[in-house]
Amino acid sequence: MTFQEIFNKPPETEASAPGRVNLLGEHTDYNDGFVLPTAIPQQTTVKLGYSNDEQHQFYSENLQERVSILDIHHSPSGFASYIFGCIEVVKQAQYTIPPLNIYVQSSVPIGSGLSSSAALEVATIRAIRELLELPINDVEIAQFAQQAEIHYAGVQCGIMDQMACSLADNQHILFLDTRSLERQLLPLPSNTSIVVIDSGVPRTLASSGYNQRRAECQEAAKLLFVRALRDITDASVTESLPEPLNRRARHVVTENNRVLEVLQGVKPERFGELMNASHASLRDDYEVSVPALDKLVEILQHTPGVYGARLTGAGFGGACVALVASGKEEGAIQALEQYNHAGYTGKILVPELIEARD
Ligand code: ADP
Ligand code: MG
Repeated sequence: MTFQEIFNKPPETEASAPGRVNLLGEHTDYNDGFVLPTAIPQQTTVKLGYSNDEQHQFYSENLQERVSILDIHHSPSGFASYIFGCIEVVKQAQYTIPPLNIYVQSSVPIGSGLSSSAALEVATIRAIRELLELPINDVEIAQFAQQAEIHYAGVQCGIMDQMACSLADNQHILFLDTRSLERQLLPLPSNTSIVVIDSGVPRTLASSGYNQRRAECQEAAKLLFVRALRDITDASVTESLPEPLNRRARHVVTENNRVLEVLQGVKPERFGELMNASHASLRDDYEVSVPALDKLVEILQHTPGVYGARLTGAGFGGACVALVASGKEEGAIQALEQYNHAGYTGKILVPELIEARD
């Protein structure tokens, strides 16, 4: 159904935001560290108009679900909590927002680790900015979006997803220092493609595992007398910590160093090696991989033309990302077939390739 069919009048405006995939820098953003996401071609579009009622009305084309916000003092659940959260957070910044009709449509896979949630938040706030001509910039949009996700959707997320959806494009990698928010758009490694493959294994333990790792990192930082693990640059310092905090901290320190190496400029071969090292570290030190992800990554890593591969996102299931030489993308598809032959139900998540050419 269209906006017109749902709300009986056309939208006033619309805005979009892409999903993202993180190439390197996993589980570093809540440690004040460094990340390297890029935008994916798929995006979420939010259409917006004024509501004739006293209340906001939301509709998701993907879920075919309509929600009326009857009581603005009571946060809704489900997808409406993300949109309602965005409205409330912007209002808390002293902007007046009238009752709105909001229509959501997305090609970003939902719940697969490609940040459909941040794409929804950023597109919503962009559309509100457009409609009401609010003087807010793209960094503020990301910050509002993060606040909405934390306080209204109840997800203790870092700032990476929202910054990526607000500031990245799919021709660059966004280097982001999550403490200072200092950032730089780097070129994608030349003559490569980025392939994202869903393992077919749902991220069932992701939220409990994620919260546990956050707590472990906080504990490790406290024992090392630093504000956050980002303040440790020498991995040997982590050896003094008890198990498993030593390995958790070592992952964060080495992962930050891998991102910083990319910032200095590396060839695709080295970028791939760093991705492989990241996966090993997430598997052995951070313990957020599962056998399916290890299997998929291993097959990809042995595929000709693949520079490197790793799990991407929080882990415990979800997706893998591979850096592939241009023209060799077919190899990644064959790797997927081999993986599925072992009894899994993996699939390509980014159908249009993200390609970088000189
Ligand atoms: P991810 O961000 O990796 O896709 P999350 O679990 O963080 O996964 O966010 C997924 C949730 O975001 C969905 O369950 C839904 O509530 C909301 N969402 C995202 N995109 C849409 C959409 N197009 N329509 C409705 N809800 C959406
Ligand atoms: Mg999300």
